[in-house]
Amino acid sequence: MKTKQIEKKKSVLRIQSEIRKVLGEELRKKDFIEISPVILSPITDPLNHPTAPARIDCYGNEYSVTQSMIFHKQLALRTLDKIFVFSPNVRLEPSGRKETGRHLFEFTQLDLEVKDATREQVMELCEDIFIELIKSIKKECDKELKVLDRKLKVPKKPFKKIKYEEAYQKYGERFEDIISKIHDEPIWLIDIPLKSREFYDKEDPEHPGILRDMDLIYPEGYGEALSGGEREYEFERIKTRIHKKGQTLEQFKDYIKLAKNGLLPSAGFGIGIERLTRYICGLKTIDEASLFPKIPGKKCI
Ligand code: AMP
Ligand code: MG
Repeated sequence: MKTKQIEKKKSVLRIQSEIRKVLGEELRKKDFIEISPVILSPITDPLNHPTAPARIDCYGNEYSVTQSMIFHKQLALRTLDKIFVFSPNVRLEPSGRKETGRHLFEFTQLDLEVKDATREQVMELCEDIFIELIKSIKKECDKELKVLDRKLKVPKKPFKKIKYEEAYQKYGERFEDIISKIHDEPIWLIDIPLKSREFYDKEDPEHPGILRDMDLIYPEGYGEALSGGEREYEFERIKTRIHKKGQTLEQFKDYIKLAKNGLLPSAGFGIGIERLTRYICGLKTIDEASLFPKIPGKKCI
């Protein structure tokens, strides 16, 4: 690598290290406890889009590599009230997704969950830590931002909100890209329809067919930052939702067994660290936000 490229990569990695530090500190200040990531389990997030299975045999049992820690976060709340984890996820995304500049097949989520919380409470928490993060990066990584020629603006609270249906009507199918391009501050997408998400996302009892869910969209065309919301936790509702998705209880038998013993109401979200680094550093594509990027469809070290 040329000296200039090394200087740029160093700045990105220094900023990423600061991002992890600040997010951890902010959450600890708010009484969150960091838990260890789960890498292998018989249960993982089914996701709402197709990824190739990443399964291995462990002592005669089939395990999956973690796609997200959603189920483990729900289970962890039986012991702790507020948790976060820097969770490595493996998602064997379709190879065409390398073109998006936003997808890797291995990445890290800062995944958090709060017992008894509402969607609005975790949205406010997110706004608070996001604002603190941008302030800290501007202060502590001024030199690196100069190397990257990146100017950052501290967003104002509360972030704007747009309902999924309204966004679709106004901008059509590519509404996420358009919303992202036309705004210069992060914006919430809320009230996502049931069919677009997974069975564990809580349906709004007052608006059947609509979820108590949200995405945060980065400005300047950087696209989706995070997804989250309230969760289904009642056994009967979980079963109904699995059936509604055309999935079977057998597929989720290990989770179902645990859900039967009782899960707790909660809300949370997961934010991708490489996408966050890409946004903060103003990088063209997500692979620039990692030392060892796993690009869909490619053999990567
Ligand atoms: P999801 O629950 O699927 O929305 O994932 C949560 C967050 O993880 C997303 O909002 C992204 O920030 C990040 N993420 C999801 N999939 C990928 C991927 N393939 N590569 C990089 N980041 C991802
Ligand atoms: Mg998402």
